Amino acid sequence: MRILLASSEVHPYSKTGGLADATSALGKALAKAGHQVGIVTPLYRGIRDKTPGLRRVDWHFDLPIGEKRVDAELWTVEPMKGLTIYFIHKPEYFDRAGIYNEGGKDYWDNGERFIFFSKCVTHLVRYLPWKPEVVHVSDWQTGLVPLMIHHQTRTEGWGNAPRVCMTIHNLAYQGFFPGSTYALTNLPLDYFHGEGTERYGWLNCLKAGIAFADVVTTVSPRYAREITTEQFGEGLDGLLRKCEGQGRLIGILNGVDYEEWNTKNNSWLKAPYSVRSLRGKAINKSELQREVGLPAQPDVPLYGTITRLTDQKGMDIELGALEEMLSTDMQFALLGSGSQEHERAFERLARQHPGKVSVRLGYDHGLSHRIEAGCDFYLMPSRFEPCGLNQMYSLRYGTIPIVRRTGGLDDSVSDVTDNPQTPNGIKFSTYSTLALSKAIRKSLAIYSDKKLLRHYQLNGIKADFSWDRAIKKYVECYQG
Ligand code: ADP
Repeated sequence: MRILLASSEVHPYSKTGGLADATSALGKALAKAGHQVGIVTPLYRGIRDKTPGLRRVDWHFDLPIGEKRVDAELWTVEPMKGLTIYFIHKPEYFDRAGIYNEGGKDYWDNGERFIFFSKCVTHLVRYLPWKPEVVHVSDWQTGLVPLMIHHQTRTEGWGNAPRVCMTIHNLAYQGFFPGSTYALTNLPLDYFHGEGTERYGWLNCLKAGIAFADVVTTVSPRYAREITTEQFGEGLDGLLRKCEGQGRLIGILNGVDYEEWNTKNNSWLKAPYSVRSLRGKAINKSELQREVGLPAQPDVPLYGTITRLTDQKGMDIELGALEEMLSTDMQFALLGSGSQEHERAFERLARQHPGKVSVRLGYDHGLSHRIEAGCDFYLMPSRFEPCGLNQMYSLRYGTIPIVRRTGGLDDSVSDVTDNPQTPNGIKFSTYSTLALSKAIRKSLAIYSDKKLLRHYQLNGIKADFSWDRAIKKYVECYQG
């Protein structure tokens, strides 16, 4: 098939979270399976310098944004056969220090930036010479694309318009902007109502995507069920129940790009390892301890977390449980950035437990691989988790995930109650410090029994979340 993916983040060009990994891996897997694939994304600062082969093409966008016209260039690169990345080059919008925010503050014109991006995507879908049969958009940043395509098909006689698939990677981010921002779409007011793109008088970009896409997917089967409830629906559960009733809502667990996330051939790691021998893992552990300033103690269990520091990720119960558990012999390494409140709390924890807690604030791709490889256990106690990737990376790295039973965490990790023969992680249900502490105690018991520890590790390494399974399901969605 001919498929155009659109995303505000694509690894390795830009990334703040799982959206970047998922888009890139899906694009590669589809191309490998023989489909013709394009991915359209903004040209952010720094991409030009680190992307050999990137070139400007003869294409010019000149699109209305409210009362003005805005132009942009198109740049492309072909990282592999069958896959073209299309970059929208508009320095006024995208050549900035951050992707969505700077210094903890969202850019004031995010509405305008991503309305423009959505218009560029729609324009490409319509006029690309290879005529995509499917356009697959993700999250609020491209949420208006399904509506724009719907509108142009209805009013401008766009024959053979593509099928539109929309993936929700996180319902908590909906792209809310003051109602006046809607004028920048240049769409008639017919769509600015409760059944369309409006909520409480505000523009809601994600809602437009859900309402107008042919098929809506989310990144795990359990999250697909959860978001139809008031508890997880973020105010859109009614619309999502309707979508489910129409057979338009489907949960597909993300895969893992094992070319990137593997322990056998990985330049980010000191020593390779695999199911056949975990000796390299011990070397990575002592290297990590050295790198993050913890004593190199092979027999002390090392826990890790790599995350955006937000309430979603369960940082309050993680801090509470660590405070309780750090009196035992254990170490903890954090890599994360996000809210100042959480950053300060973890820095305080590190000061209170020197030699036991290491906190790195910031974003560091290489270190994220080394934490995955060097730790014994990975903590991911999310309040909710659409899919989550780090627990799946942990499994492949022989690092036992300790996760809350929600969303994709529940779908990807098996504990002894799910799977008595081949458990690969530890799960808990109640969102509390107590429940997480109890799970950490279970992990200490596993750690003290080397045979059991290895059993869990090997079960994890053997678990297979390659994209092949997921793309079959996406192709079904694309075919309708
Ligand atoms: P989310 O998309 O909600 O942030 P996921 O688990 O789906 O969570 O994906 C997070 C991705 O971002 C993972 O690849 C993770 O390693 C990466 N990541 C998060 N924070 C950092 C950081 N501070 N440094 C490096 N990588 C990070």
